[in-house]
Amino acid sequence: MIDSKIPEGPVAEKWTNYKAHQKLVNPANKRRLDIIVVGTGLAGASAASTLGEMGFNVLNFCIQDSPRRAHSIAAQGGINAAKNYQNDGDSVYRLFYDTVKGGDYRAREANVYRLAEVSNNIIDQCVAQGGPFAREYGGLLANRSFGGAQVSRTFYAKGQTGQQLLLGAYSSLNRQIQMGKVKSYNRYEMHDVVIIDGRARGIIARNLVTGKLERFAAHAVVIATGGYGNTYFLSTNAMACNCSAAMACYRKGAWFANPAYVQIHPTCIPVHGDKQSKLTLMSESLRNDGRIWVPKDIEDAKKLQAGQIKGSDIPEENRDYYLERRYPAFGNLVPRDVASRAAKERCDKGYGVNNTGKAVFLDFSEAINRLGIDVIRQRYGNLFDMYEEITDVNPGELANEINGEKYYNPMMIYPAIHYTMGGIWVDYELQTSVKGLFAIGECNFSDHGANRLGASALMQGLADGYFVLPYTIQNYLSDQITVPHFSTDTPEFDEAEKRVQADLEHIMSIQGKRSVDSIHKELGHIMWEYVGMGRTKEGLETALTKLKELRHEFETNLFVPGTIEGMNNELDKAFRLRDFITMGELIAYDALTRNESCGGHFREEYQTEEGEAKRDDENFFYVQCWKYNGNDETAPSLLKEPLHYEAIKVQTRNYKS
Ligand SMILES: Cc1cc2nc3c(=O)[nH]c(=O)nc-3n(C[C@H](O)[C@H](O)[C@H](O)COP(=O)(O)OP(=O)(O)OC[C@H]3O[C@@H](n4cnc5c(N)ncnc54)[C@H](O)[C@@H]3O)c2cc1C
Repeated sequence: MIDSKIPEGPVAEKWTNYKAHQKLVNPANKRRLDIIVVGTGLAGASAASTLGEMGFNVLNFCIQDSPRRAHSIAAQGGINAAKNYQNDGDSVYRLFYDTVKGGDYRAREANVYRLAEVSNNIIDQCVAQGGPFAREYGGLLANRSFGGAQVSRTFYAKGQTGQQLLLGAYSSLNRQIQMGKVKSYNRYEMHDVVIIDGRARGIIARNLVTGKLERFAAHAVVIATGGYGNTYFLSTNAMACNCSAAMACYRKGAWFANPAYVQIHPTCIPVHGDKQSKLTLMSESLRNDGRIWVPKDIEDAKKLQAGQIKGSDIPEENRDYYLERRYPAFGNLVPRDVASRAAKERCDKGYGVNNTGKAVFLDFSEAINRLGIDVIRQRYGNLFDMYEEITDVNPGELANEINGEKYYNPMMIYPAIHYTMGGIWVDYELQTSVKGLFAIGECNFSDHGANRLGASALMQGLADGYFVLPYTIQNYLSDQITVPHFSTDTPEFDEAEKRVQADLEHIMSIQGKRSVDSIHKELGHIMWEYVGMGRTKEGLETALTKLKELRHEFETNLFVPGTIEGMNNELDKAFRLRDFITMGELIAYDALTRNESCGGHFREEYQTEEGEAKRDDENFFYVQCWKYNGNDETAPSLLKEPLHYEAIKVQTRNYKS
């Protein structure tokens, strides 16, 4: 049986009980303990700065040239908290309930309650750090709504929330660097975790500038290395996002949980050609005022596809606001998985609005007519600019007037890979199945179940980093104070370094004909086609066969130019691609084993007559954990963590009424 270390007591008291009974490290002893934090996104930077401030010695790593450039700066829309500033009936319980329901009842209840509880502290912390959240005229922090909620609880800084919050965390981090409590290693990539006597005691990292491998030891290791969305090649994630550190932990015994739970975001700029390497998100916040539609009449759709008419030529009565039609209670603010599938359904039926037939409209005409362009630009100006820069269409521009009604250019959007709910399995203390190895932020699986609600990733990353890990890691460290600082001159470090060196040399020695990107692109096609929005048993089996062939192609026909010494971006990418292929297989195994549809995991065999996801609580009410079996070619073993709900009644999600 998996021990999740969930404390006893009612769900609302578990965290309080935990804190009351946990072991704490005496302040004088903290400086004797070293902690490695890998990652400087919102999860890593918040954890590293807080642990430093508490007195621990922190070694903090990132692959970018500055912590400020972590992927977290991409976060646009906002961060949730149950402050109830709008007095619209929000509460800790309601945020907890919405998150569990949004995750299609596949999250761990106790974790989610804790998350909702600490959400309010995060806002206070970020404001204290100078985070420039949007404010009402009277000075109170402003809120907007995100999917899966009927209240306004999302705090935001224009369309740059992640960047502003990371600047706050980065300032705190810098203070600790200045105080000597955090040592920062930029442009270092963790390649392996070192296990001594069953405990994580260090890492092997490569200096990406010199190309040299280096050893680092500590009493505990925390991984905060983000999600694995780039397995699909095209995604909204930053180009450098990768799953290699997570895969290194997995290969060293950390279980990987729910890999099939991948989030496909409904509002991204559609793919426009085969030379693209990146997709751009149009923030979910736009769904506060933007309305999603396709033509009612298939003939209009055909004309749009042929470029004979524009969206603004179609009058109100001929538009199908299909989300408002299908889900009257939540309308355009249904959760992402529901909105994405609904877009796919319309496009599959031929109603797509661009030349590829894979796009729907996101339209601000009604909001601009009601509120005026100035108000709309105040809310979404930078997102409108970003859209115009990429597509050369200004969504705030008046495009047509029909019967006295003004129509503005709509955006075109389509679903794309965006976030990964699965990740390294952690217990209530955020410790993985390897002692002394912790995982926080997007790289763990903890709080979002089968689907994450918008603006909840920043909430989880910062909850983990500022408020949960700094408590829970002390339980582990409290009996480590007698363990002296580690030497890196041990057989375990020797062995780990030798293996990484051998892997790098092997990659350099292949000298085949294909570039890293061409193989990665092929991986992306396989994943999107067979392990994407709609999955079937046959498709997943095909994916597994094709992924094996692709691994063979990688092993025999990859070409990496340059040398192993010095800076070599292609080598960095190749190392990550090897892990993406293993990750792809893991996603496919998980999706094939989970014979139900839930959240972002949609198995076409398991759907209702109306095309909604059909869960099977009787047989799949658990977390699927995968254990590595010694090499990448062998299938992993399945372990199950049963879910226990005591406060929330598990039922079918309903966003219609
Ligand atoms: C376009 C976009 C918009 C988003 N908007 C929102 C939003 O509005 N609200 C919201 O809640 N969420 C949003 N999200 C999701 C959210 O941004 C992420 O889930 C979150 O920022 C992840 O934070 P993290 O700290 O876990 O990881 P990251 O920010 O991905 O940081 C990972 C860190 O790990 C380091 N790293 C990675 N691999 C290694 C390695 N091998 N060795 C050393 N270091 C390594 C990197 O250098 C980096 O510092 C958005 C996501 C995207 C893509």
